[in-house]
Amino acid sequence: MQYITWIPGDGIGPEVTGAACEIVRASGAAVQFERIEAGLTQGERTGTPLPAAVFESIARNKIVIKGPTATPFGGDFRVRIERKTEQGVIEARSHPSVAIALRKELGLFVNVRPVRNYPSVQSRYQGVDIVIFRENSEDLYTGMERMIDEGTAEAIKIISFRATERVAKFALDYLRRLKRKKLTVVHKANVMKMTDGLFLKTAQETARAYQDITLDQRVVDALCMELVMKPETFDGLLLPNLYGDIVSDLAAGLVGGLGVAPGANFGPDCAMFEAVHGSAPDIADKDIANPMAAILSAVMMLRYIGQPTSADRIEKALTQVLQEKRDITRDLGGEAGTRRMTQAIIAKLA
Ligand code: ATP
Repeated sequence: MQYITWIPGDGIGPEVTGAACEIVRASGAAVQFERIEAGLTQGERTGTPLPAAVFESIARNKIVIKGPTATPFGGDFRVRIERKTEQGVIEARSHPSVAIALRKELGLFVNVRPVRNYPSVQSRYQGVDIVIFRENSEDLYTGMERMIDEGTAEAIKIISFRATERVAKFALDYLRRLKRKKLTVVHKANVMKMTDGLFLKTAQETARAYQDITLDQRVVDALCMELVMKPETFDGLLLPNLYGDIVSDLAAGLVGGLGVAPGANFGPDCAMFEAVHGSAPDIADKDIANPMAAILSAVMMLRYIGQPTSADRIEKALTQVLQEKRDITRDLGGEAGTRRMTQAIIAKLA
């Protein structure tokens, strides 16, 4: 039996991850979920958006399924984490969001986001099948930002050889396992000569050991144009944190939107599965959110923990529901709610 930490999160998170967990259980997978609250709502209720109990559960289980956690715009929202060192000293760190705090504290250095067409899901393009690898630990997301004076703010962008080599190796190994042939490194090295220059050079050097995979490169603005013109020509994409965040949403739009884009974060010691979309407060608690991205993230999780039979069953059931079009959510062109779509998938598992 595999125990899994389940963080429902904010907004549509409890609805869509709740659907995913229900479907995983119904698939016969040998898993048990341990539900732990974290996020903005949890912070408002208790003063602690990311309680220590979350880390205790993850330390035990190593596998996490997570709903989106919201971050307020502007203001001074920070997530403070206190840890006792081996010497018994309390060490405090603070992060700009719950998601970043989890990724940093758990060492989840890469975010993998597969983007592909699904049967009967309407999109402008066909033949899209891209795996996005987003570096998760550095770039402009380290939270090192400050006001210099009232009219000027600065943020620090960090790119290191160590983190880039680690994520490049991960991406190349991942593609090799899938027998894929091309990785495109995305950068802005013509302007960010030191930081993105180092990212590009490190990826190129790392790829020399992988004769079976061609390393390609694109400046991020040109990539965006090419992605909307001929997305079917891309295979794997490797990006620094910020470009990875932006391009993942763009790529989700190529195949039907945020409702269909799953994701996973990996570190040396644990893995966390979460959809690309955010908390979508505009549609929360209305039973209209598409649970597909969360369900597909759970499918990635089942494959990762060595339960491919359940993963295949769920994917097959989901495909049937998509093809029948009767029980699909509004963003997919249907009229069903989150719950109806979930029950329809469960009915197909039999
Ligand atoms: P956050 O601040 O947490 O990132 P957000 O609302 O800014 O949340 P997203 O949650 O990523 O950003 O969503 C943007 C929009 O896309 C939402 O307002 C919603 O209309 C749509 N959307 C996102 N996820 C889904 C989903 N699972 N099903 C249907 N529509 C979705």
